[in-house]
Parts: sequence; C-alpha cells; structure tokens
Amino acid sequence: KVKTHGKNGYAVYTSDMLNNSIEELKLETDLRKALDNNEFLLHYQPQICNKSGGIVGVEALIRWNHPKLGLIYPDKFINLAEETGLIIQIGEWVIRQACIQNKKWQNSGIKPFKIAVNLSTQQFFKLNLVEYVKKVLDQTGLAPEYLALEITESMAMDFNYSLKVLRQLKDIGVCISIDDFGTGYSSLSYLKNFPIDYLKIDRSFVSDIMVDDHDVNIVKAIITLAHNLGLKVIAEGVETKDQLHFLKKYKCDEIQGYLFSKPISAEQFEENYTN
Ligand code: C2E
Ligand code: MG
Ligand code: MG
Ligand code: MG
Repeated sequence: KVKTHGKNGYAVYTSDMLNNSIEELKLETDLRKALDNNEFLLHYQPQICNKSGGIVGVEALIRWNHPKLGLIYPDKFINLAEETGLIIQIGEWVIRQACIQNKKWQNSGIKPFKIAVNLSTQQFFKLNLVEYVKKVLDQTGLAPEYLALEITESMAMDFNYSLKVLRQLKDIGVCISIDDFGTGYSSLSYLKNFPIDYLKIDRSFVSDIMVDDHDVNIVKAIITLAHNLGLKVIAEGVETKDQLHFLKKYKCDEIQGYLFSKPISAEQFEENYTN
C-alpha cells in the first residue's frame, strides 16, 4: 500500500508499512547471522560463445536460503547488506565460494571456463579488495584468467582510484567486465583508459530489440564500440531465438539468458552439462 497523507497533513502509516519496517528489522537481524549459519548459496548461469555454442563462462549469483522464508533473491537483500556493511563479508564469501567451485569443476576434468562474480560498490572501494582476490586465488589454486569480476559504471565515478584498482586487478590477471552496461554513467574516457575485458549489455536493451528501433541501434552501437576498443561483448537476458539471431548477426561474442538456462545450482549444472 502507498503512503497516504491524512487530512491534517500527518502521514498515515498503514499496517502494511508497519509490518514492512518490522520485517526489515527482522531481516537485518537474520542477515547478520546468515553467514555463520551457512545460509548463502550460489547459483550459476552459463555464458555461451556465439561462435562455438559452448559454455565459456558462468555467472555466480547469490541466493539466501532463509530458514523460515525460503530462497530469497539478491534484489531483496543486497541493498540491506550494503546499508549495514555486511556486504563486505558476504562479498568475500562469494569470491571465495566461486573460486572453490570453479577449481572443483576444473579438477573434475571438464573444459575450463571463467566464473564471473558481481562486486558491490562498497567492496570495490574497500582497501583490501586486491589483496583479498590475490589471497583467494592463491589458496584455491584457481588460475586468475578463470575469474571475472563484474563492476558497474557507478564504480568508475572516482576515475583515478578506480583506474588504480583496476590496474592492480589486471596485474593479478583476472578479467574485468562492466555489468549492466548502458544503464549508468557511461563515459568514453573510462572505456578508453580502464583495463576492461568485457561489456555486458543490460537486459533492458536486449529485451526490446525485436520491438524497439532505438534498442536495436543501441545494441548495435554497443557491440561496435566494444569491438573497436578491443573488448568483448556479452548480452544479458537473452530469452528468445529472435534475439539470439539478431545478436549473432551483429557479432555479439557471448550470450547469457533464460533461452539457454536460468541460474542453477552446482548440482544441476553438473547434471546438465557434464558427461
Ligand atoms: P546482474 O549481475 O545483472 O545479474 C543478472 C540477473 O538477471 C540475475 O538476477 C539473473 O537471474 C537475471 N537473468 C539472467 N537471464 C535472464 C533472462 O533471460 N531474463 C530475465 N528476466 N532475467 C534474467 P538475480 O540472480 O536475481 O540477481 C540480480 C542482481 O543482484 C544481479 O544482477 C546483481 O547485480 C546482484 N547480485 C547477484 N549476486 C550478487 C553477489 O554475489 N554480489 C553482489 N554484490 N550482487 C549480486
Ligand atoms: Mg552481473
Ligand atoms: Mg547485469
Ligand atoms: Mg542487471
């Protein structure tokens, strides 16, 4: 229910809103315990090479298996995790878990692919990120080229700092992707100067390429821009064959979306894609 204003100008809070703030407090309390209680898990969504048709990567996406509420998706708790600072530890858990899992898959003998991890803004601006990534790669034995870190355009706002961090990450040898590309503050100067490997075209542009001329042109322009700068392009949220045909025609390098697979558990991934 929407917040309404009473006749004297006092805000009237509906019982729903009261419930929501109590719910949120409870959720925060629960979130604080979730790491210790082992309630987080990762799902993996394949990234497909348009040329070979093979899996060349997976994106790791966090889920929270809440003891009472069941599976909770990141849109419901990442903001809360950011606000409370819990995102730092949660984010570190994600990096570690993703590296462990990918190394496990490599040890099982399947063709190696990269695993992509989403970084939150706080994580990106935290001083020890580079050290942490280095340490985890060391401890898990995963080769750096098989880890991709997804940042968003908002992390490019402090140009000099971001450039420094990205160069250090590049020195380690990990891949850098710009996630949700086109939805934030894009600047050609950061694209030119940052050591980036991939642009991920946001789902909002992909979803309308069959119906909206503007989105067609935006997607074509992003692909051309990326290729001219020596970057690869991944299209997010590919749901239909028409979209796939379009993206192949315009030489988009990789696709990710429900058309090929939803994000799935490690067990499901193994069932579907090994032997
Ligand atoms: P994202 O990084 O842009 O991830 C893609 C989202 O689009 C995922 O939602 C995925 O399930 C969804 N998606 C993929 N293909 C399709 C499709 O064909 N159709 C539709 N409708 N959706 C599709 P999810 O898993 O709910 O994650 C939402 C967002 O939460 C992510 O967006 C990312 O920004 C954030 N997130 C996820 N995991 C983490 C994490 O470990 N750390 C941080 N900081 N953020 C995370
Ligand atoms: Mg992402
Ligand atoms: Mg995205
Ligand atoms: Mg997105």
